[in-house]
Amino acid sequence: MEERICQWIADHRDDLFACLEVLVNTDSNSHDKAGVDRVGEIMAGHLRRIGCHVERHAREKVGDCLVATLPGGKAGRIMLSGHMDTALPVGDAQRRPFKIEGKRAYGPGVADMKGGLTTMLFAMEALHTICPDEMMDMAAVLTGDEEIGSFASHDLLRNEGEKATAVFCMESGRANGAIVSARRGFGFYELEVFGRSAHAGVDPENGLSAIDELARKVVALQDLNDLERGIAVNVNHIKGGAPGLTIPDYAWASLSAGFYNMTDGEQVMARVAEIAAKTFLPGTHTVLHGGQAFWPMEKDEKVQKLLAEVQKAGQVIGLEVEDIRTGGCADSGLTWYVGAPSICAMGPVGGRLHTEQEYMEIDTMVERCQLLALSMYNVSRYW
Ligand SMILES: [Zn+2]
Repeated sequence: MEERICQWIADHRDDLFACLEVLVNTDSNSHDKAGVDRVGEIMAGHLRRIGCHVERHAREKVGDCLVATLPGGKAGRIMLSGHMDTALPVGDAQRRPFKIEGKRAYGPGVADMKGGLTTMLFAMEALHTICPDEMMDMAAVLTGDEEIGSFASHDLLRNEGEKATAVFCMESGRANGAIVSARRGFGFYELEVFGRSAHAGVDPENGLSAIDELARKVVALQDLNDLERGIAVNVNHIKGGAPGLTIPDYAWASLSAGFYNMTDGEQVMARVAEIAAKTFLPGTHTVLHGGQAFWPMEKDEKVQKLLAEVQKAGQVIGLEVEDIRTGGCADSGLTWYVGAPSICAMGPVGGRLHTEQEYMEIDTMVERCQLLALSMYNVSRYW
């Protein structure tokens, strides 16, 4: 059976690349709802064609979510988690469309995660074509705001994660081919500081500098870093100011706060809130937006059990599958947190994510699709 599954996928290599090309050439920045919804339409079309029941969960400001289910003959439910948005700007797909050069494919989101979406589709189709009775139910859960914190997807991911026997998250495989068994969780925040403007020469005593207040907060926030413990805080963007001789009444900053477990996470997120609330310059006023965006994933027993199935699947296709802990975050943290064994970075291997140099190793496309399908097959058969 394993051989038939692998052969079916290898026979569809050209279809995999044709599907990937269309997805890459459809812009889907997280803030471009129409673009993400176009990717959703394309994905829904494929999913319906292979026999899925597709539910669309409307979202007001970001792309709609999709849940596509394919009933199997075995009890249990395997969830495939994917996001349809990219971190790349609108217009990128026109400027630098999908292309293959040498052993790599390029284009916006080619690895993160349009390659993963493609392998997800074809793994489901292969299994449903070849051995539907031996499979658990399969569910593709597709969201549209992962790159900006998944705030509109938390409820859906939580619900679906609770129902899942196992979760494979389709982020791209690491540059060395590794999959991911542990990750950081993150809080994503924005700070708005309000002061009082005044002429900086005529009556500075009447001014309250929002920049001064924000600068003190930035230093306090950066001081939360404790890399030995895995706490990583980064103020990544600041804006604000006023022209010339004016004391600025407004400043803004965005930041992330990362952690490897929820004990650290609760502490560092509480500290962020405290620093935001503390007033260094009396009279200024600060509003904190945001909160926890991603949950950490830890390599516990349930993850190790699922990892063993992936490694067994790898042996069938001659692939030694290594796992790593990464400092980045993904939706797999939340499905893990609500109790589902989860493994991340099951997509084709890629690198330079979120940049114009982002690439996918083309030789890993069929291989990772086979790895995913066999892992799903193993879970259905042995769990
Ligand atoms: Zn991603």
